[in-house]
Amino acid sequence: MIFRFAYRRYQLPFRQPVRTAHGLWAEREGLLLQLENEAGVRTLGEVAPISWFGTETVDEAEEVCRGLGSEVGETTLALVPERCVCLRHALSAALRRSAEPSIEGKKALPVAALLSAGRVAFDQIEPKAEAGFRVFKWKVGVGDPADELAMLDDLLAKLPDGAKLRLDANGAWDRRKAERWLERCADRPVEFIEQPCYAEASQDAARVDDMLLGLANDYPTPIALDESIVSSGDVSRWLDRGWPGVFVIKPVLLGDARATIARLEKAKAHVVFSSALETAVGAKAALRLAFAFGGEPRALGFGVWPLFRDNRFDGPYQAPFIRAQDVLAVNEEVVWNALS
Ligand code: MG
Repeated sequence: MIFRFAYRRYQLPFRQPVRTAHGLWAEREGLLLQLENEAGVRTLGEVAPISWFGTETVDEAEEVCRGLGSEVGETTLALVPERCVCLRHALSAALRRSAEPSIEGKKALPVAALLSAGRVAFDQIEPKAEAGFRVFKWKVGVGDPADELAMLDDLLAKLPDGAKLRLDANGAWDRRKAERWLERCADRPVEFIEQPCYAEASQDAARVDDMLLGLANDYPTPIALDESIVSSGDVSRWLDRGWPGVFVIKPVLLGDARATIARLEKAKAHVVFSSALETAVGAKAALRLAFAFGGEPRALGFGVWPLFRDNRFDGPYQAPFIRAQDVLAVNEEVVWNALS
């Protein structure tokens, strides 16, 4: 089938700049793709690269789009370079929408509430607990590790009964700090520690990978991989190594997200579906995959909205649960038209 093809570039300021390992991130850049079949049915896809995660840049993706012309089809995917993982994701999502598994009849998935680093988190718990959140994610590795460790029990004491805490260190710790935290968390309601250690430089990466595997096998608290998983290849590599912990998956960054997720399903892997701070278009595609996932559902890493200064680009509003019907109700055309 041949589709009429159009794309629009966006540059959307966040309500508040997002702190990352690469400094403050003030606005999201990306592309929306629109495909229209002969019957006039339109499907959308979102290209939301994070170039410091190793994806293509928005400029690169736009350059490829410019070269595709005004019509695309299934064979067009072969014209998109392998390294343009986000464009491949967006194009295949838009091309194959009609072949996607239905999520009609699925109910709701819990969402993890995001807590700021440090003591600020203490005051954020109560309103979120009252709203119904039962999984909380606290940023660590930001302040002094001894201070943060001393805060852990106070923070846990503020959680509602039966709640769980996720810790995200964004790779900030060395082995010794990671061990100290893993020891402390062993008999506490900590669901997992996300990315305790990380190395960007390739010569250190292999050593850190071995270290993460060793830590995951030595301590009872699971470890989640986030920064360590950028591409489909990373997922395969960790599956081959028998990673016993959790995989944090940002579908919009995976070239062929469906195939990668099928591999995780087959391996009965623990998966947390997570936002890459994309608009409602990419989030809808990612959440469809989360609802279709056959494994044990974990709380979604989609507690990010309201995210954009212009709320027409936000996904289902921040709530303790996202219902399948809310995902299906996201109107992608509204997002597309907001860019005209
Ligand atoms: Mg993370």
